[in-house]
Amino acid sequence: AKALGRGRHSTFHSTMRLQAQQRISLEEALGNAVQNGEIKPFLQPIFRLDDKTLTGFEALVRWQHPQLGLLMPAAFLEQAEDSGLIQEIDMCVFASACAVIASWQQIHGLGNLRLSSNLSARSLADPRVKVHIKEILESTAINPASVYLEITETTFVDDIESTTATINALRDLGLRLAIDDFGTGYSSLLYLKRFPVGVLKIDRSFVSGLGKNPEDEVIATTILTLAKALELEVVAEGVENEAQMKRMRELGCDYGQGYWFGHPITIEATDVAFIEPLRQ
Ligand code: C2E
Ligand code: CA
Ligand code: CA
Ligand code: CA
Repeated sequence: AKALGRGRHSTFHSTMRLQAQQRISLEEALGNAVQNGEIKPFLQPIFRLDDKTLTGFEALVRWQHPQLGLLMPAAFLEQAEDSGLIQEIDMCVFASACAVIASWQQIHGLGNLRLSSNLSARSLADPRVKVHIKEILESTAINPASVYLEITETTFVDDIESTTATINALRDLGLRLAIDDFGTGYSSLLYLKRFPVGVLKIDRSFVSGLGKNPEDEVIATTILTLAKALELEVVAEGVENEAQMKRMRELGCDYGQGYWFGHPITIEATDVAFIEPLRQ
């Protein structure tokens, strides 16, 4: 029994050691991934619900790892946050997405095509980020009024000075904020008045229960009422079927995003599927 116990013990420890090693090597590789051009935005379309026209795209990070293949954010974002690489990744995604959206804005009729890009709380707290964003706006010549930065409510919980400074600088650049996963975080609603919020994104968890779960109906309706009163636009996230799309439209939601409209795909595939048909 003693030998068995010791055996288990050492297996347990070698598994932990292996996991720790994998974590370290992933973190090391992540450090070079930006320089190596392995970090890329995928784009997911966002549509107006009333007339089904294309409004713009959300940029979602992917890591094209040379050995492991295409990695989703869940595989590396936590390490990126812990190691302080998230700011660099956020800026890399934003720069690439801005460049392509700016080029599409040159197409007749697409001057207001929107870009929504995610910023982690760490990026928002980093004083260098506002400088970087200004440079990206200038070098890509994207229309700033068409750019939304997605942040979560949790970002406002510790209302630190550097975060407020970044947000004010972004406002001065003409950018607006979208509150991601709205309704899932803990925060006062005061920030909706104090900061340049233009969009609320209703979290997928509420959209998936529409038509089935009365509580989700109430939550969605309440968010839409609040948004209307504050003159904010609303995007329904995670719309996976026609019933959810129709219900959100009935409730007066402005925009929809989700697998029913389109999955996140590469820039090249987005051009073929969504932009090419609009070229004249
Ligand atoms: P998010 O910002 O809430 O993005 C929406 C997530 O839901 C995306 O997952 C998207 O692929 C997925 N999704 C979209 N439509 C549907 C649907 O109809 N059904 C379902 N089940 N899922 C749908 P993804 O790309 O894996 O991203 C996960 C999270 O990683 C994002 O959640 C965001 O919090 C974070 N993230 C992604 N890109 C970036 C980035 O560039 N910077 C930062 N800081 N975070 C990012
Ligand atoms: Ca988002
Ligand atoms: Ca979201
Ligand atoms: Ca989310």
